[in-house]
Amino acid sequence: MMRLQGACVLIGQTQTMNSVHTKLRRRFKQAVRDLRGFRKAIAALISTDHPLLAHLIPVRRCNLACKYCNEYDDFSKPVSTEVMFARVDKLHKLGTSVITISGGEPLLHPELDQIITRIRRHGMIAGMITNGYLLVPERIKQLNHAGLEWLQISIDNVIPDEVSKKSLKVLDKKLQILAEHAEFHVNINSVVGGGVHNPEDALTIGQRALELGFSSTVGIIHDGQGQLQPLGELERRVYHAMKALEKRSFTRINAFQDNIALGRPNQWRCRAGARYLYVCEDGLVHYCSQQRGYPAIPLEKYSLEDIRREFLTEKSCAPHCTVSCVHQVSIVDSWRAPQRPAPQTTEATGLVEIK
Ligand code: SF4
Ligand code: SF4
Repeated sequence: MMRLQGACVLIGQTQTMNSVHTKLRRRFKQAVRDLRGFRKAIAALISTDHPLLAHLIPVRRCNLACKYCNEYDDFSKPVSTEVMFARVDKLHKLGTSVITISGGEPLLHPELDQIITRIRRHGMIAGMITNGYLLVPERIKQLNHAGLEWLQISIDNVIPDEVSKKSLKVLDKKLQILAEHAEFHVNINSVVGGGVHNPEDALTIGQRALELGFSSTVGIIHDGQGQLQPLGELERRVYHAMKALEKRSFTRINAFQDNIALGRPNQWRCRAGARYLYVCEDGLVHYCSQQRGYPAIPLEKYSLEDIRREFLTEKSCAPHCTVSCVHQVSIVDSWRAPQRPAPQTTEATGLVEIK
C-alpha cells in the first residue's frame, strides 16, 4: 500500500514537472515569436507589396458538419504534400508573413506536420485553425515538434446540438490536454449569432479558456456571403461582456466587430487579394473564404501586379463584412492608399461565388 502511494506521488510529481517544463518552453517560444512578429510588423509598414496573412487549405473534408458552415465537404481527398510544399514555397516567394492552415479539418491531412515544418523553414509564422476533435497528447507533441506556433479552436456551444457539435462538453478534455502539452499559443474563439441557441454559452466558454491559460476571442457568425447577421438584444449583451473578457486577456479590441454587433456598417479598406490571400484546395487565390470565385487566379501565377491591383481595389461587400481576420490584417494600411471601385467586368460584378 505504502509503495503504491509512493508511486502515485512520484507520477504526480513527474506530471507537475512536465507541465512546468511545457509552460517554460511555451513562454520562451512566445517571446521568440513576438520578436519575429515585431520584425514582420515593421516590414509591413515599410512595404505594401507582400501578403501579411494567407489561409491555406490542405484538405476540404471535415469530420464534423456544422449547420452554418460553407467551408467543408465529406468526401475530398487531401491535397498531395508535394503540391502543398509548392504552394508554401510560392507564398514565401510572395513575401507572406504568416500562414494559417485551415480547412475543412486540417488534422485530417496525413502529412500536416511536414507542411508546418516547411512553413517554419522559410521563416514564416505557422498557425492552424482546427475543431480540436483529433487532438491527443501524442498529436500535440508532434505539432510542437513540427514548429506550430499558434492554434485556434472555435467552440460554438456548451452542449452539442443540431447546429454544432463543437461544444465545451465534448472539447473540454481536449483543452485540458492542450494546457498540459502544447508549447504553442492557444486561442479559443466563441461565437454569437447564426442560430446558436444559448448566447450566454459564449461567456462560459471564454471564462473556461482564460482559466486554462489560453486567450479568448469572440466572433459573430456570418451568413453564406460573409455578411452581417444582426444580433438580438441578449446576443449583443453577451458580445460586449466577451469583449470585456478579451481586454483582460490582452486580445485586440476590434472596433469593427463592435459596429457589426450594433448592426452598423463599417467604413474600411479591405485589402483581400493583396495583404490577405485565401488559397483553396485547388490552389486558386480568392479574396476570402466568403468570396470564393474572385479573383480565382492560380497561386503559381499570382504576381506582384495582382497584389498591387487588389490592394487598390474597393470590395463592395466591405461595409457588412464579418470576416474578422481580414479586418485585422487591413488595419495596418487603413491610413494609406485609398481604393477605387472594381472594374465592371463580368468577373468583378459576380463577386460572390462560393463553390
Ligand atoms: S468543424 Fe469547422 S470546417 Fe468543419 S463543419 Fe464545422 S465549421 Fe466547418
Ligand atoms: S470585405 Fe473583404 S474579407 Fe469581407 S467578405 Fe468582402 S472580400 Fe471578404
